Amino acid sequence: CGIVGYIGARQAYPIITKGLERLEYRGYDSAGIVLYDGEDTNLCKTKGKVADLKAKAESENTTNGSIGLGHTRWATHGIPNDVNAHPHYSNSGNLVIIHNGIIENYGSIKKALQKRGYKFESDTDTEVLVNLIEDIKKNENVKLGKAVQIALNQVIGAYAIAVFDKSKPDEIVTAKLGSPLAIGVGEDEFFIASDASPFIEYTNNAIYLEDEQMAIVRLGRDVKIRQIKDDKAV
Ligand code: GLU
Repeated sequence: CGIVGYIGARQAYPIITKGLERLEYRGYDSAGIVLYDGEDTNLCKTKGKVADLKAKAESENTTNGSIGLGHTRWATHGIPNDVNAHPHYSNSGNLVIIHNGIIENYGSIKKALQKRGYKFESDTDTEVLVNLIEDIKKNENVKLGKAVQIALNQVIGAYAIAVFDKSKPDEIVTAKLGSPLAIGVGEDEFFIASDASPFIEYTNNAIYLEDEQMAIVRLGRDVKIRQIKDDKAV
């Protein structure tokens, strides 16, 4: 399992797919990618190998965009199939997430969200997390980074996540506990990955997040690193 993200001025598709191939050693059963083309997000995912994902994305022409998130999945909640593959959208379709790890208390959170009308397409713990973030963002009227922080304080488990909001498409929010996460800092471009191998040829400047840290990468800004448990910080 692995994650790769990009935000900058280059085409994200080749960076992300090549990066996912470099993370293949970590093992996986499905792969997926979402790209933002300046107007909308396009998602492509499939059970199988990164080669299968590339064949599908290229035949569907969903390869354009300079912001994107890619994922290889090692199924823990829900069988390996196209629907359970990441990325996962929130109910509004604005938020999209990739996640490595396990949300252990997803069952009770899912029930609470279902009572409030949320619908779930997949059997994953991950789709619960992205909708929890959406619910908090709406109800508490906070920015994405803050909503992610509040959500992660309600979650038990392990994760490396990256979240993108197409209604605010200049940033990606990431966080880590238990699973690895590295951020490559270029010149007004950022790379996110499970290790530095996906971005090694683009930048020498790598930040390895520590457990219980989150980072907000925004175009035109420096990386903002915060403690998930530090209430006021984001
Ligand atoms: N728990 C998540 C799932 O089953 C993520 C698995 C992973 O680490 O790839 O979809």
